[in-house]
Parts: sequence; C-alpha cells; structure tokens
Amino acid sequence: MMGKGLIVQKFGGSSVANPERIQNVAKRVVGYKKQGYDVVVVVSALGDTTDELIELANQINTEPSEREMDMLLSTGEQISVALLAMAIHKLGLEAISFTGLQVGILTDTSHTRARILKIDTVRIKKELKSGNIVIVAGFQGVNTNHDITTLGRGGSDLTAVALAKELKADECEIYTDVEGIYTTDPRIEPKAKKIKEITYDEMLEMASLGAQVMQARSIEVAKKFDVPIHVRSSLSPNTGTMIIREVKRMEEVVVSGITLNKNEAKITVCDLPDKPGVAAKIFKELSEGGVSVDMIVQNVSHTRKTDISFTIAKTESPRAMKIMKKVKDELGAGEILQDDDIARVAIVGVGMKSHPGVAAKMFEILANQKINIEMISTSDISISCIIKKKTVEAAVKALHLEFGLEK
Ligand code: ADP
Ligand code: ASP
Ligand code: MG
Repeated sequence: MMGKGLIVQKFGGSSVANPERIQNVAKRVVGYKKQGYDVVVVVSALGDTTDELIELANQINTEPSEREMDMLLSTGEQISVALLAMAIHKLGLEAISFTGLQVGILTDTSHTRARILKIDTVRIKKELKSGNIVIVAGFQGVNTNHDITTLGRGGSDLTAVALAKELKADECEIYTDVEGIYTTDPRIEPKAKKIKEITYDEMLEMASLGAQVMQARSIEVAKKFDVPIHVRSSLSPNTGTMIIREVKRMEEVVVSGITLNKNEAKITVCDLPDKPGVAAKIFKELSEGGVSVDMIVQNVSHTRKTDISFTIAKTESPRAMKIMKKVKDELGAGEILQDDDIARVAIVGVGMKSHPGVAAKMFEILANQKINIEMISTSDISISCIIKKKTVEAAVKALHLEFGLEK
C-alpha cells in the first residue's frame, strides 16, 4: 500500500490520564496507521504527574537543583511512552518507545527551560521504515554534557512541533481535553466558542498571556518554520482549530480571545530614591538572578521618592524577593511587598491594530463590574490588566460577553 504520508500526533497529560484513556489513544493511533499513515506519537506525562513530581521535590528541598529537577520530571514522560507502546502491541501492531535522549533531541544546557538545538532523526526514520509506530517522550532532551534536560512546562507541544518540522510531516496534530482553541478558557466560561482558524501571532499572544492549551514556545517554532497545527480533542472525532499563518475572516473581528493567568505575583519596592540608575540596578540584579520580569510600573513621584512594581511568575517570587532584600540597602529602598493575590486578564486580537477605543472599552467593562485595575500593559495585539485574583472570573465573563465573543 502506498503511504499516505507522515503524521505527528501529540497527546497531552489529560489524554493519557489513566489506563482507559491510554487504550483510547492507542486505538486512535492505530486507526491512522491502518489508513496508511506513518505515525510518530509524542506523549506527555500521565494526568497531573508533573505537578505531583514538583510537589514531591519541594517536600525534600524547597530549592532543588535544576539538573536534578530535569532528571526527576523526565521520568513522567518515560512512563507514558512505555505504557502506550504496550497498549498498541495489545492491538496487534508494532510500536517502539523512546526517550528524548534516544531519538537525539539535542538541547542547550539551560536546565528546566532548555532550547532545542538539533534533532537527529536517523533512528526515528529507520523505525518508521520498518513499520513501527514511533512513540517519543515529550518535554525532554539531552544536552551537550549528556545530561537530561526539559523544555519548560507544556514542552511536549514543542517536541511535537519540532519533530513535525524536522521530519517534514504532512500533519501535526495536538490532542487535548477540549475540542480546540476557544474564545476563552472553556473551563471558566462555558459559553466560549471554538475558533475555526487562528493565526500564529494571535495564538502566541494568547499562550504567552496564559492560555495553557498550547505552549508559547511551540508556537514560535511553528511560526518560524510554517508548521500548521491542528488542535483537537482525543475524546471526539470533530475537527478542531487550525493554527496557521494567515486567516481570512468574513467580518473583521476586533477581539478574538480573552485570557487569564493566575500564576503571577506582584512585587513592589517602596520609597526608592527618584534618581538615575535605580531601575537599572533592580532589573539587572533580577535578570542576573535568572528572574524574568513581565509588567513594570513606576509611580509618579511627588516627594523625590518613588515605588516600582513588577510582576513575575509566582514560582519565581521566592527568588525575586531574596534578590530584592539583598539589594534593598544599596538602593536606599523602603519596604519590599509581595502580592500573590493578583491575576492577569487580557484581550487579544489582530483586529485591534486598526480599531481605536478598544482599551477604553475594556477599562469601562471592568469598571462596570467594579473591578479595580492595578497595572496595565499593551502590545500591538493585546491589552492586559492586573486585577485582584478573586475578580478575574467575573472579568473574563464580562469581557467575553461585551466584546461579542458569544456570537
Ligand atoms: P494537555 O494535558 O492536553 O497538554 P493542557 O491542560 O495543557 O492540556 O491544556 C488544555 C486546557 O487548556 C484546557 O482544558 C482548557 O481548560 C485550557 N485552556 C485555556 N485557555 C484555553 C483556550 N482559549 N482554548 C482552549 N483551552 C484553553
Ligand atoms: N508534562 C509536562 C508538563 O506538565 C510537559 C507537557 O505536558 O507538555 O508541563
Ligand atoms: Mg499542555
């Protein structure tokens, strides 16, 4: 039989959360193989395994070494690939599982957020040729020192996109627990609508602002190499969402999605002297300490003293607080305050570029909900607000309704 082409399929943690779901994935994969496709399957760790492993590490040491974290977290995906291979064998087809190291996913040396440098596809191609379904552990690679690395949370998406590019796959499918990309997180707003097609730029913005359905870095790679992605459900046969370069919409849409992120924290450095070099010092120390800063706000000073607030990933707040306390005296700063009780809500859409008044409308919708905005930041195609965490769901629902996304 003539081959139909090569398909890369990624199944997320929710799709392989238990033996029944693993068997469901096996059936799905086997279906494609029987239709004549060569299939490369990328799998994530079962269910919440990665979170559980992180929690376990923290019980042993609250500041675990990043190398050992990678050693630990990579085991999650190693379990899934073996189990999926066994499930496929049970259905009578040939399948072989691999770790990132075994299939030559070479990365740089930055543990827990490594970048892929190169993929050596010789072994995968050989196994495909001999008729195997090839199963690859997502989220992991090996660095130039032969140490195991991981690709950042959600990194199995990146494994799949990178393999699709490297193997020149005809299709790249991301299977998850929802039917595609929605106008907002359907877990928060059940009235969210599935989007048929979305551009790389919009998806990248949504992912960076907290829509965990796709890892942001995987979209960067897809955009760079023009890899179309089909996001769909592992529990339904329905077509999902295509993530592509350009989308032709009948009517111009101003806002195409709403995101929320509850995993940020705000740090405020109070009573800083209002003089050159202060901000430079703060953000240089943070970047040298490996903390990436998101939003920054400096208050207007009336008293020659000023406050600077910034947001970071909540997981990085202990490290950021430590750094700030260390340089506090040198800066001549007052109190350092940490606030974990915040969330970010954002609206995203390429149509915003050509429509004035979108920001004003967003602020008005939040005001009508009596929601106070603590920080604001904008990009070409998004506007984000930091608000109190307990108000974020109401904010998402109001924005979703008022920007007409239920239609
Ligand atoms: P997987 O385990 O398959 O990698 P994730 O949990 O990483 O799945 O991502 C899927 C989840 O992303 C969905 O269950 C959904 O709640 C959430 N999500 C957030 N924003 C969106 C969105 N705009 N569209 C679809 N899903 C979203
Ligand atoms: N298991 C990893 C995580 O939870 C990678 C992934 O799911 O994509 O982040
Ligand atoms: Mg994911």
